[in-house]
Amino acid sequence: MSQRQATYLRDGRAPLPKHEVTSRVMQANRGKDTAPELALRKALRARGLTGYRLQPKGLPGRPDVTFVLSRVAIFVHGCYWHRCPHCRLPLPKTHSAFWRDKFEQNKERDRRDRQLLEKAGWRVLTLWECELDDDVGLAAERVAALLGNGG
Ligand SMILES: [Zn+2]
Repeated sequence: MSQRQATYLRDGRAPLPKHEVTSRVMQANRGKDTAPELALRKALRARGLTGYRLQPKGLPGRPDVTFVLSRVAIFVHGCYWHRCPHCRLPLPKTHSAFWRDKFEQNKERDRRDRQLLEKAGWRVLTLWECELDDDVGLAAERVAALLGNGG
């Protein structure tokens, strides 16, 4: 946990916005080309899984990586903002009620986007930042399996 927060600080990204306005801005500037996304895309290319599109407009939640023909959508979720079930990062000590609501909204939005995509016939895979950190090759294998190239 502390390591991950230290990473945020090194990146120059604020771990905790002080005002709601700041957090709205951060939401609008949703991460693209974050380190975990780049690592995943590199691993996908290494397996010959190319031809994906990034954050296409018009899809719920704008998944980070999509294979349109196979209708496979992949979200790369930061453990902190999307409340990773593996990491279980603690809430901020100040304004905890505000942050609890905020994070619940994030999780609710993620759930809703996933449902909308699945209703539209997409298969959805959520990959957590920590999973990509641990074993990006395994993550790429899971994508390959979804695409039917699992061997
Ligand atoms: Zn995590």
